[in-house]
Amino acid sequence: MTTSDVIVIGGGVLGLTAAVALAEGGRRVRVVSRDPARDTTSAVAGGLCWPYRVRPEERAVAWSVRSFHVLAELAERPAETGVRMVAGTMADEPGAAPESGSDGWHASVPGLRRATPDELPPGYGSGWRARMPLVDMPSHLGYLERRLAAAGGTVQRRPLTSLAEAAREAGTVVNCSGLGARELVPDVAVQPVQGQLVIVENPGIEEWFGSAGEHAGTTTYILPQPYGVVLGGTAREGAWSREPDPATARAIVERCARVHPKLAHARVLAHRVGLRPARSSVRLETERLPGGALCVHNYGHGGAGVTVAWGCADEVVRLAGGRTA
Ligand SMILES: Cc1cc2nc3c(=O)[nH]c(=O)nc-3n(C[C@H](O)[C@H](O)[C@H](O)COP(=O)(O)OP(=O)(O)OC[C@H]3O[C@@H](n4cnc5c(N)ncnc54)[C@H](O)[C@@H]3O)c2cc1C
Repeated sequence: MTTSDVIVIGGGVLGLTAAVALAEGGRRVRVVSRDPARDTTSAVAGGLCWPYRVRPEERAVAWSVRSFHVLAELAERPAETGVRMVAGTMADEPGAAPESGSDGWHASVPGLRRATPDELPPGYGSGWRARMPLVDMPSHLGYLERRLAAAGGTVQRRPLTSLAEAAREAGTVVNCSGLGARELVPDVAVQPVQGQLVIVENPGIEEWFGSAGEHAGTTTYILPQPYGVVLGGTAREGAWSREPDPATARAIVERCARVHPKLAHARVLAHRVGLRPARSSVRLETERLPGGALCVHNYGHGGAGVTVAWGCADEVVRLAGGRTA
């Protein structure tokens, strides 16, 4: 029996954002998710709006710029949405050539400008300053679920074993299964890139900081969230474990303390590990399933799912045959 006109597979940030956009566009939407939102990769994300480890570059920038504007609007109601605008610095890796600033992202974000030398921590030669959306992910996922319910959508907790199973229940299937797409599609091009974080008590940090080589195995970022400061990070390709490694955690704190010495002694509140759903290129396209249902794939967003979610949601709505806001 068809009870919904659209089934969205996945209740992470990509699935819930697409579901909200579809439901607010008038579609009858049901999200089917194996895991509760708190157990998804999306709940682990640091929550900075900045394209990182996501391809193809040109589309990713366009999606990110669209999301920037939506998130900036949501930041007007931080208690409700979990989104705030926070000032911060994205430094180029020490020794790396400075970003040219000519790419679409640097040119399109309002207020993004080069950092002056006194705005950079010791050891960093160049970088960027901006007020960016910083998303408290556990809170934001709850907001998206409430907004979906308000638009008439529902969320069901159960695993699906195939796209065909979803297609038996709805004429349109939107596949936002993240790393789950490896088995569900199946698509072995989706690979985990493991990321580890440490959450510490905030010793008085108000701005975010990031420095992330696109191909480096380690990164340095400091994101002040309401629940503590998120310290990162790592990017281990092909690693499946979700167990925090104590030596890695110590190294993360040490790197971040070089930027903010007070972090060396901050009380550790929690350790987090998440698996980024990486792919050489995001899969955002349609496919006809056997039996005729339309499938819109939307997975493989790597290290930038929060950053691109609203831009991708617009495209999902268009591909699913609806109108974008
Ligand atoms: C440490 C770390 C830090 C990060 N920081 C940032 C950041 O600051 N900014 C940023 O933009 N991005 C960041 N990311 C990346 C971001 O978290 C991911 O790109 C994003 O969460 C992917 O979202 P998703 O909805 O595709 O996948 P997920 O959140 O993994 O959700 C997948 C959903 O699909 C469901 N599912 C899977 N298989 C099935 C099945 N067979 N049946 C039913 N349901 C299924 C799951 O239950 C889940 O609900 C970070 C990631 C990590 C690991």
